[in-house]
Amino acid sequence: MQLTSGQQTALRDQGICANETCDRCGKILGEVRYTRRGEQGEWCSELCRDGVVIDRAARRNLRKRTKQAATMKRLARTPKTASLFQTIQTV
Ligand SMILES: [Zn+2]
Repeated sequence: MQLTSGQQTALRDQGICANETCDRCGKILGEVRYTRRGEQGEWCSELCRDGVVIDRAARRNLRKRTKQAATMKRLARTPKTASLFQTIQTV
C-alpha cells in the first residue's frame, strides 16, 4: 500500500525512508517484498501474501516430484522409450 506524502514526511522525520507498506499487516516495506506475478499488491512475507508458509523440505520434495513427473511424461512421449514405459505400467 502506498504511503501518503504526509506519512512519508512523518517517517522521514524519524530517519526512516519508506514509501510503501505491506497490504495485509501494514509493516513498512524495505527493499525485500513479496509479490505475485500478474497481480497487484506487495507483502512483507510469504505468510502475509499466501496465508501459509511452506517449509523448505516440503518445497524441495514438491520440486523433486514435479521433476520426476515431467521426466516420466517425456519418456512416455518418446517413441524409443514409450513401449518400455507401457510395459512397465502394465506389469
Ligand atoms: Zn505483512
